[in-house]
Amino acid sequence: MRKKIVAGNWKMNKTYEEALSLVSEIDNMVKDEVNNDVTVIVTPPFPYLQSVSKLTQGNDKMHLAAQDVSEHESGAYTGDISAAMLKSVGAEYVIIGHSERRMYHHEDAQVLYQKMKVALKHGLKPIFCCGEPLEERDAERHFEYVGQQLKDSVSYLSNEEFDQIVIAYEPIWAIGTGKTASAEQAQEMHAFIREQLSRMFDAKAAFNCTILYGGSCNPGNAKEIFSKEDVDGGLIGGASLKSRDFTDIIKSF
Ligand code: PGA
Repeated sequence: MRKKIVAGNWKMNKTYEEALSLVSEIDNMVKDEVNNDVTVIVTPPFPYLQSVSKLTQGNDKMHLAAQDVSEHESGAYTGDISAAMLKSVGAEYVIIGHSERRMYHHEDAQVLYQKMKVALKHGLKPIFCCGEPLEERDAERHFEYVGQQLKDSVSYLSNEEFDQIVIAYEPIWAIGTGKTASAEQAQEMHAFIREQLSRMFDAKAAFNCTILYGGSCNPGNAKEIFSKEDVDGGLIGGASLKSRDFTDIIKSF
């Protein structure tokens, strides 16, 4: 079944104290105000995962994701965090292939595929990010570009693995820039992604896949973007750091 999801990606923001107060506020607002069937995901930095997990345990709308995972199982990889570790502190989802990881950490399609495999093996659900840079959009090669990203990292998953993943379309030119894709641009790309997925897997599995939009999503534009047929929610950066804005986005469905 296709789920509606609003996921907040906190990136490298907030001290421990700030993170706990943010998540308590979100947790309370979600309890008091949200009565739609949206799955809410928060994605704090690694050191806060366990505490955030404990804080949100009693709220079945709230779920936990990590911002990244190692492609390795375990061993001599200083600084890396494994899928088993994430699972053991309460993470259910993990963001894989965010454009910031691709760009600053040179994560390529092969590594991203391995990260998805290892996450899935340990029962974590990948939120796989794709999206084109501005030059590709300007040159009208954005469909080709995103299609290739899916082919390179998603198409090799088994049907059972594919059923566990979420896709996030995040055009790079819209991330943190205040410039969102129009609802029509988002819908057009989401429909294209679903079409590609239906060729790689099958039409029913593709229909059931949750596809999120990310890139300068805020309380002012979420309603229109989420109203589109193939947009099943959002991956929210900046606006997820404010409990009021994030909750208003969750209520936009
Ligand atoms: P933004 O980030 O909402 O701040 O544009 C989105 C993301 O990078 O996931």
